[in-house]
Amino acid sequence: MKKFNFTYYFFFFYLFIINLSCSSQNSLGTANKPYFRLPVYASHYQIQKAILPKYQWEKNLNWIEIIPAKTGILLDIKYATKENFLNRAVYPCGKCFVRPEVAEALLKAQKELQKKGYGLKLFDCYRPLRMQKKMWKIKPDPMYVANPSQGSMHNRGLAVDVTLVDKTGKEIPMGTAYDSFEKKSHSDYKNLPAKILKNRKILSEVMHKYGLEPIRTEWWHYSYRKKKYPIGRWVWDCD
Ligand SMILES: [Zn+2]
Repeated sequence: MKKFNFTYYFFFFYLFIINLSCSSQNSLGTANKPYFRLPVYASHYQIQKAILPKYQWEKNLNWIEIIPAKTGILLDIKYATKENFLNRAVYPCGKCFVRPEVAEALLKAQKELQKKGYGLKLFDCYRPLRMQKKMWKIKPDPMYVANPSQGSMHNRGLAVDVTLVDKTGKEIPMGTAYDSFEKKSHSDYKNLPAKILKNRKILSEVMHKYGLEPIRTEWWHYSYRKKKYPIGRWVWDCD
């Protein structure tokens, strides 16, 4: 019986080593596929959870990176630059991670838009909780920043800030700049030129079709509410 136990544990130790080497190779940032679902086996999950600090294991679970070269979706992650309402960079570099359902919705929307000569450009995706806290520290105003004690849809990987681009990648006019918190930014504000309203409609219709819904105060923000996920704390690597 003792011998059996030893073999048994050795087998699991072997599986554990295999798992570790696989997970380092399968880092989401270097995935070769347009979007990539990491296999989440119970043993993988439990072993990772048992031995690694939470910040390290949770990034291997159910996150997809949107890579422009693979998806055609453009990235201009504003919180990695000073071009945002805080006038300072809060992310170490600009990358876009979302939950698998959101990635699928974005890819479908992109495909449909491409047929009409448009495409998507993302300004913000997953926002790690510690970045939310950083933003709250700079601007503790719920009008502009979600209180990190509750967390936002961005913290859960279930929201994106997005606009439309044309075939050449040039932004389509939407009436206001990103993060300009004015009445004109409201998605239900109708006192705008017909062309702007039409552009916003093209975006909102395709997003709605694939399950991404707007919020009233920001034309650029879309959330996926059909699925729930916990708040994420991990931060992507910059390479
Ligand atoms: Zn947003």
